[in-house]
Amino acid sequence: MTHSFSTAFLLALTLMVGIRLWLSQRQIAHVTTHRSTVPAQFKDRLELAAHQKAADYTVAQTRFGRLALASEIVVLLAFTFGGGLQALHDLWSGHVDGLTYGVALIFSVMAISSLVDLPFALYRQFVIEQQFGFNRMTLRLFLTDQLKQTALGLVIGTPVLLAVLWLMAKMGSLWWLYVWLFWCGFNLLILFLYPTWIAPLFNKFTPLDDAPLKARIEALLERCGFASSGLFVMDGSKRSNHGNAYFTGFGKTKRIVFFDTLLGRLQPTEVEAVLAHELGHFKHRHVLKRIALLFSMSLVFLAVLGQLIDAPWFYQGLGVQAQNTAMALLLFFFVVPVFTFLLTPLMSLLSRRHEFEADRYAGKHASADALIKALVKLYEENASTLTPDPLHSLFYDSHPPAALRISRLAQQASST
Ligand SMILES: [Zn+2]
Repeated sequence: MTHSFSTAFLLALTLMVGIRLWLSQRQIAHVTTHRSTVPAQFKDRLELAAHQKAADYTVAQTRFGRLALASEIVVLLAFTFGGGLQALHDLWSGHVDGLTYGVALIFSVMAISSLVDLPFALYRQFVIEQQFGFNRMTLRLFLTDQLKQTALGLVIGTPVLLAVLWLMAKMGSLWWLYVWLFWCGFNLLILFLYPTWIAPLFNKFTPLDDAPLKARIEALLERCGFASSGLFVMDGSKRSNHGNAYFTGFGKTKRIVFFDTLLGRLQPTEVEAVLAHELGHFKHRHVLKRIALLFSMSLVFLAVLGQLIDAPWFYQGLGVQAQNTAMALLLFFFVVPVFTFLLTPLMSLLSRRHEFEADRYAGKHASADALIKALVKLYEENASTLTPDPLHSLFYDSHPPAALRISRLAQQASST
């Protein structure tokens, strides 16, 4: 069993790496081939220079993704078959035991992984984003962010991890059900606390004070029967030139947040259309559906882990001799993404459907034409490619390709 599990894991890993490399190769080739001309549909809306910048940015990101993939695989293999996890176990088990051992083991793996990721994060921000004019961070802000995230991770993560390890140790064979309930409760709590307690640690939120825009948005909210506890502008420009708008929170704590970078670029009717798209997500209950899906998937995963945790082949098949709850959790986090990789296109498909529904809602309650204008501007400003490889897009993209979204919106605009 040990050997078959090792073989199955290595096969799944090879398949995942093969598909990811193949798709990225296709993406680079497709974008490069279409670099020289603006697609006909966008001829009047987009300059060639902007189209080429988007192509170059996409290629740079995709190439870098291949490098990051290589590092990810090296880390995965070093921790498992390379003996990294076993070595950390040997190190800690000589000094501490029980819950302390579990926390020490898991935190040391997380610390090592973040250290390996750090140069990649630095390169992404200060070389790629910088080169395309998106970076607005200083090295000092970048490091402060990292420190804050680590501190927050420790403050929140330590008690959560202690609770999970405790439930695993004390709750008998149904521990995974208790862990799942705890996990769902914790996630809901974070969703609730995020807008008012966590997000302000990283950004400033000021109430929207542009009176005409505010009146326009309030009229839209009224039309759509939507109650929120406020409209806020976030200083996204502190870190990046990418623009966005989103909702956070539940029930009465719902907030609508606009990046200052978005408001700076769009006309009021376009901001209204973008917000109507976000309202569409809410009205179609996309957030709830997504949460329900993630919760049910985590229940399945935990039930599987509940079976694996006592199976020696699960540990030994991944190159680890030590058998305990913390180790089981770590191994599980390493193998789940490999075995579930082929679900990616299903999740992307679901997400793209939701985007179409939200676009249709925006076309109905605001203006399809204004949303088209806003989308073209956002694609241009974010240097998103208009000519993705169709297979790459089908597999990964959470948003439908621009050409498709815009032609559907144009159809809607002409039929009303
Ligand atoms: Zn959307």
